[in-house]
Amino acid sequence: MAAKRDYYEVLGVSRNSSPDEIKKAFRQLALQYHPDRNAADATAEERFKELNEAYSVLSDPEKRSQYDRFGHGGPAGQGFGGFGDFSGMGVEDIINDFFGGIFGGAGQRTRRGADLRYNLTVTFEEAVFGAEKEIVVPRTAGCRECGGTGARKGTQPEKCGACNGRGQVTMQQGFFSIRRTCGRCGGSGQVVKDPCGACAGSGQVLENRPLKVKVPPGVETGTRLKLRGEGEAPPGGGSTGDLYVVLTVQEHPFFVREGADLYCEVPITFPQAAMGATIEVPTLSGKKNLSIPAGTASGHDFVMRGEGVAALSSGRRGNLVIRVLIEVPRKLSKRQKELLSEYQKLSEASPGPISSSFFEKVKEIFG
Ligand SMILES: [Zn+2]
Ligand SMILES: [Zn+2]
Repeated sequence: MAAKRDYYEVLGVSRNSSPDEIKKAFRQLALQYHPDRNAADATAEERFKELNEAYSVLSDPEKRSQYDRFGHGGPAGQGFGGFGDFSGMGVEDIINDFFGGIFGGAGQRTRRGADLRYNLTVTFEEAVFGAEKEIVVPRTAGCRECGGTGARKGTQPEKCGACNGRGQVTMQQGFFSIRRTCGRCGGSGQVVKDPCGACAGSGQVLENRPLKVKVPPGVETGTRLKLRGEGEAPPGGGSTGDLYVVLTVQEHPFFVREGADLYCEVPITFPQAAMGATIEVPTLSGKKNLSIPAGTASGHDFVMRGEGVAALSSGRRGNLVIRVLIEVPRKLSKRQKELLSEYQKLSEASPGPISSSFFEKVKEIFG
């Protein structure tokens, strides 16, 4: 056999590359040279063996440090595991996160229940000031009667005979062995002979779990609140998933919210706009006075600093923007008409700067 190549060279990585870089390089090359994809190609097969050996050493911090110091001929040379540690991996195992199962020893995966989503609608005020809401979440939970094992109380599940409790079965295919999830026990390594009556042997029950959700001030539509461990329990026991409460905030009759800022349109009269006035405007903390200077245009924005919503992240309050809109009356009394006609005559004699400039331009063009 030819002299062994340097393990770093085999994986095409530098000597100071991180475990992640090593894993990534191995994953890529292992997929390229995997026997499932290179049928009857002796060179690829040799290369795959070489990759497995290099990876079995460089992925193990202790073996890697020994290799760094002593190379192939080191004292632990024979103990390097050599070929075989990863050769059982199928293409699928490599594509999926192979650390999950193959590395976890004896093919036991850490089981985790599914995450759940709960859609919760809150009022505008609850979103702004925060609230505590009570919800009921339907979910699968571990059966309390059997402790989630699925076996009748007082009995235990038995070791699966088909896989000898490993949860995976190994099949020899030519030179390579391929591991598959055991069909008899579904990968759990255990079978229930005498099922629990409360859960019919599944180890799980459906429950409606009441929960209190603390809604912090400043949330918006789309804000996700995570409740750790309030998701579903995995079959056969393991850690429960998380619950995500996704919020929808109801609209307010006159405040429109954008992040921490609030917008509100307030109607004013033409005389108020022309002569100036102090008007009452709504804020989160009740009505407040806002003074409008004489000559205010319709659509003008007045910014009231710090009168917005406290931001969820910083707690800093945004602004309240009041947009004044001049309301044109639809019905006029006789007296109002008289006064406005008089006003109009006076206005024609001394038009404002916008009117003057506009009518001058019209005159220039049309004569
Ligand atoms: Zn049960
Ligand atoms: Zn089995």
